[in-house]
Amino acid sequence: MLRQRLIWQLFPAFLLIALTALVAAALFITQAVRSHLLTQFEQDLAARALLLAPQFDDHLASGDYTEVNALCGLLDAATEAHIMVYRMDGSIAGDSRSDEGGASTQALPPEVLTAKNGTDMAFSERENRREGQTMLYTAYPIMRDGAMLGVVRVGQSLAPISRAVQAMYFWLLIGGTLVAAGVAVVSWRVSHRIIHPIEQMKQGAIRFASGKLDMPVALPEAQEMAELAEAMNTMARQLDDRIRTAVEQRNEQEAILSSMVEGVVAVNRQQHIFSMNRAATRLFEVDPERVQGKSIHFAIRNSRLIEIIGETLKSGGPVSAEIQLHKEREVLLQAHAAGLKNAAGEPIGVVVVLNDVTDLRRLERIRSDFVANVSHELKTPITSIKGFVETMLDGSVDNPEDTRRFLGIVAKQADRLHTIIEDLLTLSRIEREEEVGESYLSEGAVRPVLEGAVQICGAAADSKDIRVAISCADTLRARINAPLLEQGLINLIDNAIKYSDAGGEVQVSAEERNDDVRIRVSDRGCGIPGEHLPRLFERFYRVDKARSRAAGGTGLGLAIVKHIAHTHGGRITVESRPGEGSTFTMHLPKPKSAGPELRIING
Ligand code: ADP
Repeated sequence: MLRQRLIWQLFPAFLLIALTALVAAALFITQAVRSHLLTQFEQDLAARALLLAPQFDDHLASGDYTEVNALCGLLDAATEAHIMVYRMDGSIAGDSRSDEGGASTQALPPEVLTAKNGTDMAFSERENRREGQTMLYTAYPIMRDGAMLGVVRVGQSLAPISRAVQAMYFWLLIGGTLVAAGVAVVSWRVSHRIIHPIEQMKQGAIRFASGKLDMPVALPEAQEMAELAEAMNTMARQLDDRIRTAVEQRNEQEAILSSMVEGVVAVNRQQHIFSMNRAATRLFEVDPERVQGKSIHFAIRNSRLIEIIGETLKSGGPVSAEIQLHKEREVLLQAHAAGLKNAAGEPIGVVVVLNDVTDLRRLERIRSDFVANVSHELKTPITSIKGFVETMLDGSVDNPEDTRRFLGIVAKQADRLHTIIEDLLTLSRIEREEEVGESYLSEGAVRPVLEGAVQICGAAADSKDIRVAISCADTLRARINAPLLEQGLINLIDNAIKYSDAGGEVQVSAEERNDDVRIRVSDRGCGIPGEHLPRLFERFYRVDKARSRAAGGTGLGLAIVKHIAHTHGGRITVESRPGEGSTFTMHLPKPKSAGPELRIING
């Protein structure tokens, strides 16, 4: 619909009202003035007729109509009135504006008839064709001694009244035009005064709608408008407060969601995503911008997640399940889904919280593997001891030679048990220290530690005729726990000797690099196939079980080394090629300041 501006509705209406009033007033005034002038004119005409009547009685009585006619002309010249005298038979005895006295037998005009009948004076307004103007006529009886001799009729042009009325029209037109112009100006300004505050409020409302709620509407002068503007400003303030609160709440929620480690995905009943935090987008490797508002079927193509959401939508939840993601590495998620409800308690969607339990499950597996491994490791020597002891107890071994041999085996298995338990205790002690974050590290020379470890392994090296060479600057220092580091190095050197052929060589070296201090133990032994390297530092993991057992290994040596490296705030790496040898490297952080201190790990 085509809408008109308010000013074009108000202004013409004002103007029309004003002009109608003006025209009505003008008509009324002119009518009133004309009627007043006419009344005066009639009175004047009646007075003339009254005065003129006695002038004619003598001549009429004598029948001297020529004289009557002449007198008519004379009096007309004096009074500027058309004078006619009628005899009682209706014929004209004299006419000031015609010479045919006594000739007319025309029907008598109404004012003459009225006079003849002796009733009141009558006035009649007629167009005089001969004179070409409107005339007002009246008549009066001519009496003598109580008898009516005839009637005198006086007519006068109404032109002066017409002229006066026209002049009035002229001035009314001039005045009216001026007044109309004034009215137009005033009504324009009044319309503007009404519309301006409305316009201001309209602008204010547009500002509010565009979000600029802090720019209030100016208060107009008119009370009602000022109250309306005040109400709008109050509404804007309240709206601003509410929006601010809502934004703050949303920001807080977003901050909480985005800083959560758990992934959170919320979908509506149509399964379109309306919230997904950073952790969830990382887990499912999707672009957070793109998934917003998209269907879960297209945004995250995980059938298990879709299944869980569908189930929760149906049942209202809660639903718990595990989801497996096949990324670079396998990721296991624990999903907890629950139905979302609005304030009225109606279901509006589903929220799913996802926990990455990959590490947890791995730890659980390692722990249960560990228990199984420990049991297995302990079982072999215990079974062996039990077997020999039972054999000896049932008295079937008489020979002292056999008895000594059996006891030797029992002692060896007991040693093995002892070694395993020693290693387990060492491992658990180091692990505990690592977990609690307590281990005394102090800056000290590295070379003496290497020499100590090599010396302890000396007997084993000699038994296989293996030369162990040390390469380390005397000045090299690191932040170390010397006995612990020595223990780790013993394990590495012992392995290097164990898995090298007789007559081989083992290199123990240490040097400072840009970012750390590296201690290397290299051998030219059997080496380790690549597929074993990732799991090499796990407890009880052995590449060649038979060889390890034969060499008295527990499978715990490298696990201990790994924890010792961690305790030092460092790490352990391995490079190895089957048949070429292996190099184990301990990376220790460089010393920063001198003096002993309590190092907090994981703290
Ligand atoms: P073990 O007591 O069996 O030596 P470790 O934890 O010390 O246990 O070592 C785990 C496994 O790693 C060993 O069983 C062995 O197969 C392999 N290994 C360790 N060091 C070496 C090395 N220097 N050369 C070859 N294989 C090694």
